[in-house]
Amino acid sequence: MNLTCELVNRKLVNDFLKITFLGTGTSSGIPMIACNCEVCTSADKKDNRLRASILVQSSTTTIVVDTTPDFRYQMLREKVKKIDAVLFTHPHKDHIAGLDDIRAFNFFQQSSINIYANTLTQEALKREFRYIFAEKKYPGIPQIDLYTIDQHPFIIGDITIVPILVWHLHMPVLAFRFGDFTYITDANKIDEQERKKITGSKIMALNALREKKHISHFNLAEAIEMVQQLKVPEAYFIHLSHQMGKHEDVEKTLPVGIHLAYDGLVLMC
Ligand SMILES: [Zn+2]
Ligand SMILES: [Zn+2]
Repeated sequence: MNLTCELVNRKLVNDFLKITFLGTGTSSGIPMIACNCEVCTSADKKDNRLRASILVQSSTTTIVVDTTPDFRYQMLREKVKKIDAVLFTHPHKDHIAGLDDIRAFNFFQQSSINIYANTLTQEALKREFRYIFAEKKYPGIPQIDLYTIDQHPFIIGDITIVPILVWHLHMPVLAFRFGDFTYITDANKIDEQERKKITGSKIMALNALREKKHISHFNLAEAIEMVQQLKVPEAYFIHLSHQMGKHEDVEKTLPVGIHLAYDGLVLMC
């Protein structure tokens, strides 16, 4: 615990981290296949949301959080040429499905890619991408090196990462703090002890699925309350469903300092 506090308080070596929102939608994405609602048919680009993921970059280090089913397109859109690591939050399909496409980075970097995940997520990766871990591998498959993480801080390149345990109903999910920025996807409960790791963040991203209550995600009111309890001055909501309504309409209703994130949003923190 002491180590965590020390690392949280320590200023990062680099001045700024660049956070790019690769996707801000819930598991189905927006538009949702076959849906004709006003959000799914909106002409506002901010109402198009790929599955939830971010890119965290210092001047020397690039980290991706989760590989969504949209991972390939997200890497192309942001013109990512090199990644140093992938961090996984939890094993749900909308957060891991795109892993196969790291093959391009294997090819151009001529190396395997470091993957950081807890044991629960690693079990799912081994189950759902069995060929990657097979004893007799066929050529051209993804090459990865797995690193096991828990709630203890670790360092990739010049970026210190503090994992934060949050709850997605009964599933433990890892949130991550990078310097002054905290990223929390897929959660509806945060224990008191873990909240201390978030304290002092200047900006956070937090999941807020929709207005109506949900069994495993914060809804809009709960997410606003959580940001206010944590006293983080600036927050961006992610993992949004089409049921949340149109970006422009919802944005107008939010308290000062709280926003809906959108795909392509970049923050310097
Ligand atoms: Zn999800
Ligand atoms: Zn999930």
